[in-house]
Amino acid sequence: MHQKIRDAIKRSRADYTEIRVEDREATSIRYRGRDLEEAGAVVDAGGIVRCLVRNGGWGVVTFNDRDDLGAKVQQAYECARLAQTEEPIELAAIPIVEDRINVSLERDFRGVSLAEKKALVEGYNDLLLGHDERIVDTATAYQDEFRHLVFASSEGTFVEEELPYVGVRLVARAREGDNVQTAMEGRAGQKGLGFVQGLDDLARATAQRAVDLLAAETVIGGRYPVVLNQRLAGVFAHEAFGHLSESDFVYENPQAQEMMVLGRRFGRDHLTIFDDGSTPGLLGTHRYDDEGTPTGRSDLIQDGILVGRLHSRETAAKMGEKPTGNARATGYRYPPIVRMTNTAIEAGKTPFEELIRDIKLGIYACDAFGGQTMLENFSFSSAYAYMIRDGQIAEMVKDVILAGNLFTTLMNIDAVGDDFFWIESGGRCGKGQGGLPVTFGAPSIRIQDVVIGGR
Ligand SMILES: [Zn+2]
Repeated sequence: MHQKIRDAIKRSRADYTEIRVEDREATSIRYRGRDLEEAGAVVDAGGIVRCLVRNGGWGVVTFNDRDDLGAKVQQAYECARLAQTEEPIELAAIPIVEDRINVSLERDFRGVSLAEKKALVEGYNDLLLGHDERIVDTATAYQDEFRHLVFASSEGTFVEEELPYVGVRLVARAREGDNVQTAMEGRAGQKGLGFVQGLDDLARATAQRAVDLLAAETVIGGRYPVVLNQRLAGVFAHEAFGHLSESDFVYENPQAQEMMVLGRRFGRDHLTIFDDGSTPGLLGTHRYDDEGTPTGRSDLIQDGILVGRLHSRETAAKMGEKPTGNARATGYRYPPIVRMTNTAIEAGKTPFEELIRDIKLGIYACDAFGGQTMLENFSFSSAYAYMIRDGQIAEMVKDVILAGNLFTTLMNIDAVGDDFFWIESGGRCGKGQGGLPVTFGAPSIRIQDVVIGGR
């Protein structure tokens, strides 16, 4: 296979040619209430050729059968010649590497029977359903995936990389009359099966939270100082800010260009936000992105100042900056586009107790239940929340929706916690190509004067 790929690239008449070939095996098991909705495995293989012709553009061909790669390259070349781009496409230089990354998993899920995986999910599902009679519905899922990728380019890069994924998702729905409440938890990483075993306590806590939410009052709307827990702060950094750092978006959007000026102050000195595709075991991690660019840490906001953004080779060349290893594709059916990997707010120095100590009346908002962003405006629902009264966590409240302007909100982050962690509850980012695994990371953060929708 390797020689076939090299030969096909060598014969290409394009200015630049790359081939990415992928083998994927995956298992998926899902329960909905008592019903087993899915239990199956897929084996999938395919690839993609991208050719670039200077006076044309990109030509892309995807395929499943790997015979005659030469013909696929020729097809992609012809598409590239016919393509019309407004300005010539350049690719910023990257190091040429030959590398092979094999993972070894503590308990490789590929060697575990479907029956054992099903028993694991069934066990969690039973715990959710049996926790309380008010639990009326569940959605419990297990997924694993092992991807083997080969990437080669006409510049001489040849990379082979293995990417595992294992994840469990727990959703419990509690009901009392018309009052229906949902709680959600999960765990996912580039790990072995052991990572998602032994989560009985997490399952019980999920069910209990759904039940607790039945008794929670709807929050009274207004402006509050708000402390976000790590999981909500991480999603906020990704959704409200991170997507604006994706250079394909910045380049194509004049309004975004005006906003995302390097050197502009975005927050106070304690605010640093970065993306790092090289941290082991996280969902957005790979040694090389889908253009063969090595991944690493890219600071986006450093000490409050916008210092960088995320690039593919093409956007880096357009903007005269360096590629950052953020060209990612959701599998072989797609060409890479600029995506985040693992995006995080860096740890600060303030212990959690100090974050809440001086708040007379405020809100401790936990986890995200979804959100919307429109350029600089955002709104997020937290999954559950508590009032903060006289410096103490008080009663649980529900339906907490945070809304605001990104720039005002970032400037209003007046304290950053020392309790950073990478959130391993699972994350996917949608952007044209469907869900791509990403990880969020953050400490707890305090934001002054947040608009909270509610009663
Ligand atoms: Zn996203």
